[in-house]
Amino acid sequence: MEAKTKDLWVFVETNEDGTAKNVGLELLTPGRMMVGKQGGELVAVVIGNNVEAAVNAASAQGADKVIVVEGPEYAHFSTDAYAIALVSLVEKYGPTSMLIGATNNGRDLGPRVSCRLKTGLTADCTALDIDPESGNVAWTRPAFGGNLMATILCPDHRPQIGTVRPGVFKKGEAGEAKAEIIKEDIHVDAKDIRTQVLELIKDMDSESVDLEGAEIIVSGGRGVGGPEGFEPIKALAGVLGATVGASRAAVDAGWIPHSHQVGQTGKTVGPKLYIACGISGAIQHLAGMSGSDVVVAINKDPEAPIFDVADYGVVGNLFEVLPVLTEEIKKA
Ligand code: FAD
Repeated sequence: MEAKTKDLWVFVETNEDGTAKNVGLELLTPGRMMVGKQGGELVAVVIGNNVEAAVNAASAQGADKVIVVEGPEYAHFSTDAYAIALVSLVEKYGPTSMLIGATNNGRDLGPRVSCRLKTGLTADCTALDIDPESGNVAWTRPAFGGNLMATILCPDHRPQIGTVRPGVFKKGEAGEAKAEIIKEDIHVDAKDIRTQVLELIKDMDSESVDLEGAEIIVSGGRGVGGPEGFEPIKALAGVLGATVGASRAAVDAGWIPHSHQVGQTGKTVGPKLYIACGISGAIQHLAGMSGSDVVVAINKDPEAPIFDVADYGVVGNLFEVLPVLTEEIKKA
């Protein structure tokens, strides 16, 4: 389809309680940068039931407009209902591009919407740019097992759609909420919703591991040697108020659940402080944590590649270093 405007849309996914998921608010940051280069307005799209909190957050986070679709049929995420609503909004307003968070729901919704609109989708992006002349987005994502970063262009398609990994971009400072709020009345017939939510069962583990939102992360890798090796990691995390992360090697060994995994096939994080313990620094791990402000590496091998990206390095045995560090921080 033809774009009717230069507007860039960000789908701001909501939680069950009507608040915005962080990733949608994070995506307003590159959205603003891209609109700054190519013109048009930055539009947040919020779908759900009782989503005032998410609408206000998107507005405070700098959206020029927020388009809201509310109704009981959107209370729980449903690919059918959300895709019908989003496609009908795109057909009405004709944005030039749209960013969707690469959450479980976003990874489900994005392809469905792009297929119905007969456009393309670049999945799981980790960097974005735009050509101000053509308005073509340059979508960058890991390819070939994370061994290279591919930049993908879809010049003939509108809207250009991509999913972007949570934690890649940082939320801007919230300001005054002054976006124009546009309420759209789109109702979806029950017969068009092919899945029914019967019960919500919380995965307590992944619920409690908010790596993407964490300010400090202490991560353990194969170097911890076993599940009990995470005890000193957890102790340091405890005194720092940090979240525990892990490399895939530790997760694959069954020492810690996957919800703790940082990296290309885990979570992308951007804490103020990332402490990597017994992690070699494989490219797939770095893909998930290189946006950290300060990286500290503890590794007994002075040649470990993690030291190439670390701001501070300790060459030593983590089982000797961590208890000392934990005790010193307790005293401070
Ligand atoms: P290793 O590479 O084995 O490193 C262990 C380190 O611990 C070594 O540097 C060693 O010197 C150090 N060490 C050992 N004992 C001690 C000690 N007592 N004190 C201090 N240091 C010690 N990996 C991820 O992490 N996340 C991903 O999302 C991810 N996705 C992947 C996707 C694909 C498609 C592929 C192919 C791979 C992926 N990997 C991922 C795996 C990645 O390539 C590495 O195999 C993995 O990151 C290695 O984990 P590690 O650093 O813990 O282990």
